[in-house]
Amino acid sequence: MGKSIFKQIIDGEIPCNKVYEDDEILAFRDINPQAPTHILVIPKKEIPSMKDIGDEDIELIGRLLRVAGKIAEQEGISETGYRAVFNCGRDAGMEIPHLHLHLIGGRAMTWPPG
Ligand code: AMP
Repeated sequence: MGKSIFKQIIDGEIPCNKVYEDDEILAFRDINPQAPTHILVIPKKEIPSMKDIGDEDIELIGRLLRVAGKIAEQEGISETGYRAVFNCGRDAGMEIPHLHLHLIGGRAMTWPPG
């Protein structure tokens, strides 16, 4: 299997609208936004899904959540609220097998999700 789209973005082979980057984490705007703010926050390490998070990744995932929270503040959606979603597997509509957090906000949302 070839590189996933997100791995190609991490490696600079596909451009992205970058919001944040450090040694371990990259955040960029979703190409097909579902709300005024729709940002994907991903670990640079290739972790396919939540079941693949190892003991050695726990600090990384904690940092990823913290980064997502900071981005929400920067985007001005922290007060109004937002969703932070990991789609995992077929029933959730996961398309890209590289763990990613959808940070979605800027409009009111309904529950349960579709
Ligand atoms: P998921 O369905 O959870 O796997 O989400 C994959 C997300 O990646 C979708 O919301 C897509 O719109 C988004 N996406 C796919 N290709 C790109 C790309 N090149 N740049 C930014 N977002 C992308």
